[in-house]
Amino acid sequence: MAAAAASAGVGAGVAAMLQVPERVVEVAVPVRRDSGEIEVFTGWRVHHNVARGPAKGGIRFHPALTASEVSALAADMSLKTAVVDIPFGGGKGGVRCDPGAMSLGELERLTRRYTVAIASLLGPDQDVPAPDVNTDERVMAWLLDTVDVLHGRSMPAVVTGKPLAVGGMRLHAGATASGVVRCVRAAFGALHRDLVGARAVLQGFGKVGGPLAFLLQSAGMRVVAVADVGGAVWNPGGLDTAGLADHVTAGGSMGSFPGGSALDPTELWEVEAELTVPAALEGAIDAAVAERLASALVVEAANGPVTPAADEILARRGTIVVPDILANAGGVTASYFEWAQSRQGYPWDEALVATRLGRTIDDAFSTVWARSQSLGATLRHAANVVAVERIAAAIEARGLFP
Ligand code: GLU
Repeated sequence: MAAAAASAGVGAGVAAMLQVPERVVEVAVPVRRDSGEIEVFTGWRVHHNVARGPAKGGIRFHPALTASEVSALAADMSLKTAVVDIPFGGGKGGVRCDPGAMSLGELERLTRRYTVAIASLLGPDQDVPAPDVNTDERVMAWLLDTVDVLHGRSMPAVVTGKPLAVGGMRLHAGATASGVVRCVRAAFGALHRDLVGARAVLQGFGKVGGPLAFLLQSAGMRVVAVADVGGAVWNPGGLDTAGLADHVTAGGSMGSFPGGSALDPTELWEVEAELTVPAALEGAIDAAVAERLASALVVEAANGPVTPAADEILARRGTIVVPDILANAGGVTASYFEWAQSRQGYPWDEALVATRLGRTIDDAFSTVWARSQSLGATLRHAANVVAVERIAAAIEARGLFP
């Protein structure tokens, strides 16, 4: 953020404001387990900056979640909403817990108690959560219902990524993957490379990676290797991604997919390909991986999958990295459209949502690409500069209270 602020010509005072989150709330979340015992979890909600609009960002449930990680992710959301120029600030939240080790009832009680604990921060004009790692539309429905019960009225615009039955939007679930593919197309175009027949390697086959594999194949690419937590599979001719999804849904592991050969997941990065898409957790591409990464283009579908040390190595090796705040911004852009519809109480035509989503990502990509050319800098630096300029403009327009 500091380097971007310097390139953007932002004053020292505004730069200092962007270095720290505006608000960090830590809460205790006591939950009655099915056994009858009470377990106390720790949760957070962070507002990084709200000069451009209400705090926007997901809620994640993860056993290794920390306060500093939530704050860093909230800062990324300020940049992400600014880079696609939607009227939100940046926020993030979550609870340190292992949802895989909880029953549905325990998960619901955790979600509702956490929502109550952060309720004073939430509102359509204050802070609008959404799904993130290990949370989904069901969790958003519990959050919405808890807020509605607390306020005694219907507030559908308080959360996005809701189920259709309570004002959600059909295209929300696949929007992150759609935005990633849009960036892949734009990057191949800008680099004058052929997309059709090009090979893609994908890490992650969940909420983003699953639909993404299918969309990349539909765009004419050969998805040659896919890894998830349970293993990896490789087929140099291209995997049948729909078949792989069916196989995984039926409980099969990556390595046992009959349409490819099992691959050691640590070898994923060395598979020859034109494109690598990390679509799992932070830090997947570290310095050691960056030294041996085979493909010359990385599109970050996950948040923060390339470590800062790896980023320097990739830049030195001439590998192009489309940064997360641009590449995966389709999700939050869809959230913006859902929020707008919930506020209007009027659903948009699906074709309109798709067109606006595509245009928003294309415009952001072109702006960032042009800035990267004019600065002679990486796409990540250029995206940060574009975002910081927009946030700084909002802070300066508002002036400082009192
Ligand atoms: N969790 C998603 C992200 O990191 C979406 C956030 C949102 O829609 O508010 O971008």
